[in-house]
Amino acid sequence: MAIDPIGILWDVDGTLVDTAEQHFLAWAELSRDLGRPFTRADFAKTFGWRNPEIVRELYDPAADARTCAELGKRKETIYREMVRERGATLLPGVRELLAAFRDAGIPQAVGSSAPRGNLDLLLGASGIVDYFGAIVSGDDVTRGKPDPEVFLRGAAGIGVAAQHCLVFEDAIAGVQAARAGGMACIAVTFVGHHPAESLRTAGADRVVGSLAEVTIDEVRRLVAANPDQPTKTPPSKPG
Ligand SMILES: [Mg+2]
Repeated sequence: MAIDPIGILWDVDGTLVDTAEQHFLAWAELSRDLGRPFTRADFAKTFGWRNPEIVRELYDPAADARTCAELGKRKETIYREMVRERGATLLPGVRELLAAFRDAGIPQAVGSSAPRGNLDLLLGASGIVDYFGAIVSGDDVTRGKPDPEVFLRGAAGIGVAAQHCLVFEDAIAGVQAARAGGMACIAVTFVGHHPAESLRTAGADRVVGSLAEVTIDEVRRLVAANPDQPTKTPPSKPG
């Protein structure tokens, strides 16, 4: 049975665009300023987390909200400079899929752990901001992935029930968030931060090497095959 309407929820970093190296270099520069070590393993472990959780993991488990915000802001300032310098390119298949969903009348939203300023920069610089009916950033939620809040707000923003949405993700925490929200999920390994098997174990319905492999028909099938989960009440807007 075809489900209509369906909705699409996009992670950004590693799914729509790849700026992982800019994130790595920004954390490395901040850590150097603080006299702390920062390794590729630290980066892999915290990939996809929100800044407060990363700051507590890297620097001080007891860091208060103000310290987390301040260090997070420093890191993002460095990161944005690097994106401006190096730009952000769309990953393979992304532009075609965004256009195909739009042409099919399927609403799309962004659900990202990134701060609002980064999303505006990235989506603007890559010229895709107009595809999205809702953009939910890490600043708009109280709980980061693997909590489903960011995707539940994205689904609410485009007016589609969570279990009628499909999430595109590249990170384990993001796949877990999709499953916790009752959404179908396609994981992509193109940038390669998480092995396919781990993404499958986390609950991805399908793992692809590149989004160029994905078709709208397949997305419709996966949403239709999604176990009928109880409808989550969309969270109300904060403030
Ligand atoms: Mg990601």
